Amino acid sequence: MIPYGRQWIDEADIEAVNEVLRSDWITQGPAIERFERMVAERCGAAHAVAVSSGTAALHIACLAFGLGPGSLLWTSPNTFVASANCARYVGADVDFVDIDPRTFNMSVQALERRLEYAEKAGRLPDVVVPVHFGGASCDMEQIARLAERYGFTVIEDASHAIGGCYRDRPVGSCAFSAAVVFSFHPVKIVTTGEGGMVLTNDDDVAERLRLFRTHGITRDPSRMSGASEGPWYYEQIELGYNYRITDIQAALGASQMARLDAFVERRNALAARYAAALEGFPVTPQVVDDGRLSAYHLYVVTLDEGTGIGRAELFESLRAAGIGVNVHYIPVHLQPYYRDLGFGPGDFPVAERYYERAITLPLFPAMADEDVETVVRAVATALA
Ligand SMILES: *Cc1c(COP(=O)(O)O)cnc(C)c1O
Repeated sequence: MIPYGRQWIDEADIEAVNEVLRSDWITQGPAIERFERMVAERCGAAHAVAVSSGTAALHIACLAFGLGPGSLLWTSPNTFVASANCARYVGADVDFVDIDPRTFNMSVQALERRLEYAEKAGRLPDVVVPVHFGGASCDMEQIARLAERYGFTVIEDASHAIGGCYRDRPVGSCAFSAAVVFSFHPVKIVTTGEGGMVLTNDDDVAERLRLFRTHGITRDPSRMSGASEGPWYYEQIELGYNYRITDIQAALGASQMARLDAFVERRNALAARYAAALEGFPVTPQVVDDGRLSAYHLYVVTLDEGTGIGRAELFESLRAAGIGVNVHYIPVHLQPYYRDLGFGPGDFPVAERYYERAITLPLFPAMADEDVETVVRAVATALA
């Protein structure tokens, strides 16, 4: 079976992890700060706060911007459930903005229309979470313009997009947003096993992110309510969590970061190979708009209208041929949990139509060129 995604661990990664295992610190040691500095520098952001998962990163980002009961977060329906769940963790409400049928990202036109309407209705979002689907950045300049006009905070869910670029800036620069979130799950671009990170250019936000990562505890006397009672003394000043990443994971992440450009380059080469080989097939790949370098976390195509077979049939035929295809994503608003909150079919029709026709083909940097040909031959057979 050719999987749809897979980590690439090399000897240097293993050595980096071994080194930590032999050291004094396997958590809360120097590897975490080193990893954070590496990512912050690579992305051009002032601060990076590493945590135990991308989901934890989204959660503390919501907390750091003061989201809570009565707040409202908008995201794309075409995402992993975590992009929406982070609002629910803090008691905030969620709504969605439909996608662009070409890029599969949140549609700026749909966002603008919904904002005009929401302003009249008196319920503007506090936070908007654009998701860089498949690794291709949303139109951040336009989203930042709307954020300015309507006064919401932008948290980018860049779980798919580390190593990508938008208008010559690395994704993660926070040039068009208040914060950017990464995931380091093994199918993502670089991995720490499990892990995530929040980047920001705001010193206070960074400070709050670090508090929420570790129980809301501070050892900084300037933040304490009273005087320090001695070297052992700390104060819990917020309700935080244990969302720490380990030094073992951070060492793996730092080692992987050294190959980030190579990973993204290889993913782009494979995507180009797919695009050429699928020319003339009744499938349409995700469009990556000008001014972007996609990190190509996913290679997604939609099955064109009027093809003899449906997506389910194509999926089963490819799986039977040993091709580990997948589907990204079941629209979040159609999950039973969100239906119970009042969402249902027809709410975001573009995302729903997309979901019926989308299929993710295998793409990972260790994949061979010939694997692309194997996949495309299987697609040809299935469609014949
Ligand atoms: C993977 C992913 C997450 C969650 O990341 P974890 O590290 O698995 O918690 C969030 N959003 C998107 C879009 C993702 O793909």
